[in-house]
Amino acid sequence: MEQIPFNKSSTVGKELLFIKDAIKKNHISGNGFYSKKCLDLFNTKYGFKNAFLTTSCTDALEMIALLLDFKKSEEIIIPNFAFVSCANAFEIHGAKIVFCDVNNNFPNLSYESLLKKITTKTKAILLIHYAGYPCDINKIKKLCKKNKIILIEDCAHAIDVEYGGKYVGSFGDFSTFSFHETKNISCGEGGMLVVNNKKFIRRANHIFHKGTNRKDFDMSLVNKYQWVDKGSSFLMSDLNSSYLYGQLKVINKIQSNRKKIFSWYIKKLSSLKANLNYIFPDIFYSEKFNGHIFYLICESKVQRLLLLDYLKNNKILATFHYLPLHQSKYYKKNYKRLENNDKNLKNSIFFSDRLLRLPIYYGLKENQVDYICDKVKYFFKERIA
Ligand SMILES: *Cc1c(COP(=O)(O)O)cnc(C)c1O
Repeated sequence: MEQIPFNKSSTVGKELLFIKDAIKKNHISGNGFYSKKCLDLFNTKYGFKNAFLTTSCTDALEMIALLLDFKKSEEIIIPNFAFVSCANAFEIHGAKIVFCDVNNNFPNLSYESLLKKITTKTKAILLIHYAGYPCDINKIKKLCKKNKIILIEDCAHAIDVEYGGKYVGSFGDFSTFSFHETKNISCGEGGMLVVNNKKFIRRANHIFHKGTNRKDFDMSLVNKYQWVDKGSSFLMSDLNSSYLYGQLKVINKIQSNRKKIFSWYIKKLSSLKANLNYIFPDIFYSEKFNGHIFYLICESKVQRLLLLDYLKNNKILATFHYLPLHQSKYYKKNYKRLENNDKNLKNSIFFSDRLLRLPIYYGLKENQVDYICDKVKYFFKERIA
């Protein structure tokens, strides 16, 4: 068996043809033919009316930070089990970062923990639909409305996920997506900002266009464009959009392949779950996942390390996930908030220590999944006996 990587990118549809065509069209910078094609598709299929293709999800988050104009001491609450950018994008634009915990059965933001962290200074809440599993959005949205708090959905894992008849990404004031190589739909590096709160659309256009009213100029509303706001260069190049469009055109094929792999894991590991109930969450059986992540929960950090090593020695590259952000070097140095202590963030520490992700990518074969599951079962067999 050849080495099985953790992730692998695949050209599945007409990505290469579209790249060639973008070059032929003589417009490979932002806002070209393929960027518009992608945005049209996001609008018609997902209902994202006001979307911006960005160079990354991190950049989309930064756009939100600029739009929200954080004043000194204004806070954003973020799950502690999160990617660095979720905090950093706001940190560099003046927000104070406050962490809340995740649930004990699944690493989505915990509503109870969130309630405890809201103060009069809370300006925004960011949630992550971890592994594409939707957070309790309606409940959180209600809470935000009541307290006049901006809601941000980080949908980096959650493309093409439905919740209550609508697509994830259409609930918050803002939502962000990632098309990084490691995500379900990719163009190497890329992202998207969706602005659902109409109040922010005009400024979003300025910030997106390097702080200018270029959009008004393009629409012939003004005869020259100029510096009108803060901003930066956020546009995705049409070379990337053309690749992205190739992927989006075959999104059903990509998603169904990933979901099939996810279901193989469940089926092939359920005998293990019969003995080790905690090994993966029950909702893996009952809910629709988008095949972004399949994970196992180990008994301890030490056991996870042993399993990672064991798999690696068998040419399988598995990996852990986020480190608790409140324990990071940067946060400890720059924040001394007593409320962000280990005790009230213990579920995120639990998942940081024990969660192990198995390979999942378009085109992973069933015999490879068989091989991986056999090795996993063998590893645990000795421990159960
Ligand atoms: C990948 C990821 C990001 C960052 O995406 P980039 O496009 O690489 O900037 C942000 N948030 C979450 C939850 C992610 O998984």
